[in-house]
Amino acid sequence: MGEKIKKIVKTIKVDLDQCNGCRSCEIACAAYHANPRYSNFNPARARIRMHINETNDEWIAIRSTDYTKAECDGRRRYTIGGREFHDCSFCGTICPSRDIFFEPDSGLPLKCDMCESDPPLEEPMCVQICSRNALTYHEEEVEVDAAEQEEEKQPSDMDIGLQRFVDVYGFDKLLDTVARMSQKG
Ligand code: SF4
Ligand code: SF4
Repeated sequence: MGEKIKKIVKTIKVDLDQCNGCRSCEIACAAYHANPRYSNFNPARARIRMHINETNDEWIAIRSTDYTKAECDGRRRYTIGGREFHDCSFCGTICPSRDIFFEPDSGLPLKCDMCESDPPLEEPMCVQICSRNALTYHEEEVEVDAAEQEEEKQPSDMDIGLQRFVDVYGFDKLLDTVARMSQKG
């Protein structure tokens, strides 16, 4: 049996009954991740987005998860309280079937990083700003296999950005670009 280590699992719970669709969470996320910090408040740059469908009375805050270049089949429907929801309503995957979670200028994927920073925040920004307590932060200590944990290391923004570049332009173009940039110094 492999070595076990302790790990803190961080989650943000969403209470749909409390959310009023104010979109403050989008603005707080975009501002916190702007460079320099708080220099931009454009919700299109947020890693959390409100999915709003007024006809169906849907107000759902979705945090972005992993980037993929492929669409899923998207054919699932859920009935909750007599209303029917499409699976995209709850999905945080950064995929080509929607134009959310892509940085509007560069087209690079914007993955939620739980506001990891040094020093760490007590709670992620979207949770702090939500005056309705629709978003709540939770930590749980779990025991995991050390080797599996090593394999599961989360990709950085840089890893995800390079993957997106390769998906759009191809690997050869990436190598050409790096070669040109290194020549310029
Ligand atoms: S800040 Fe809270 S209430 Fe406002 S949209 Fe986000 S989750 Fe909903
Ligand atoms: S946890 Fe941080 S990065 Fe993730 S959606 Fe909330 S504010 Fe954005």
